Amino acid sequence: MRTSIRTIMLASTCLAAILLIGNLGSPAFAAGQTASEPLSKTYRVTRANDVEFQKVEPFKVFDNLYYVGPGYVSVWLLTTPEGNILFDSAQEPYVDFVIDNIRKVGVDPKSIKYIILSHGHLDHFGGAAKIQEASDARVIAVEEDWKMIEQVGSRPGAAGGPPPRVPKRDMVVKEGDTLALGGQTLKFHQTPGHTPGVLTTEGITVYDRGTPYKAIVWGGAGYRGGLAEAEQSVRSANKVAQIQGVQVNLQIHSWAEDSGYPGGGVLERGIMLKSRKPGDPHPFVDPATFTQWVKRAQDGAAKAVQEEKQKAGR
Ligand SMILES: [Zn+2]
Repeated sequence: MRTSIRTIMLASTCLAAILLIGNLGSPAFAAGQTASEPLSKTYRVTRANDVEFQKVEPFKVFDNLYYVGPGYVSVWLLTTPEGNILFDSAQEPYVDFVIDNIRKVGVDPKSIKYIILSHGHLDHFGGAAKIQEASDARVIAVEEDWKMIEQVGSRPGAAGGPPPRVPKRDMVVKEGDTLALGGQTLKFHQTPGHTPGVLTTEGITVYDRGTPYKAIVWGGAGYRGGLAEAEQSVRSANKVAQIQGVQVNLQIHSWAEDSGYPGGGVLERGIMLKSRKPGDPHPFVDPATFTQWVKRAQDGAAKAVQEEKQKAGR
C-alpha cells in the first residue's frame, strides 16, 4: 500500500506542474515549484505568504466531504442531510475565499450548523466569527482554547493594529462528549500539548461512492516547548493511539512538520484523487500511514520529554 502510494507520488510530482494548473487553479505554481520540494511544503512553508497562490480550488474528497481551505491550512466541510459541519475556519485574508469555496462546492453557508475548532491558534480559528455570522453556526472548542481565543481577541493584532476578530465563546466540549447530526456521531477528545485545549474529533463517517470509512481530525500534535507540554503530548499521542479503526486522517495542515506526512499531504493526495481510475484505492483512505504517524508522534513526544528534562537539569 505504502509503496504504491509512493510510486504514485513520484509520478504525480513529475506531472504536478501540468496537473495543478487544472486541479488547483494556481498557474503560479509552475514557476515557483521546485522538483525537490513537495507541493504541500511549498504551500505551508516556502510560499506561505503568497495570498493569490494560496487560493487553491476547493475539491470534493468523499461523497460527503470537501476541502475548502487555502493551501497552507485545512478547512474541511462535512455534509449531512440535516446540515453541515466545518472543521476549522482559516484566517484573514482568506475568510471570504473560504465562504466562496463553500458556495462553489454547492453548499449554502447558511446550512452550516457547527464550526469545530481544532485549537486556539489564529490560522485555525481566525475565520470563525465571520463564518458564524454568515451561517448562524455554533462554534465548538475546548475550554482552555476558548481562553486562548479570548486572549488573542483582547491583544493588539499584527504590527500593533486592532485585535483580530474572534468568535464569542459558544459551545464548550470536553473529553468524551459527542455530537450527533444527520447520521454522524462525532466523538471529542482533549489532546493538549500543542495548545492547552487541542480538540480531536473521531467517529467522522465519510463515504466513497457509498462505502463508509472512519475519519479523524487530530487537532494538533507538535508541542511547542516546555516539559509539562511535552508530557501532555505523550499522553495525548497515547490517547490517539487508543482510537481504533481510523482509516482517513483529515490533516489540519497540508504539510506536517519535519519530512511531511508520509505518502503525501492533503494537496498531493488531492492530485492523486483527481487522476484516480475506476477500481483504484481512494488516496485518502490510508490507515497504515495513520498508524505509523501516531507511532512517530509518540516517539517524538517521548524524545521531547527527555530533551526537556535534560535542559531542566542543566
Ligand atoms: Zn497551531
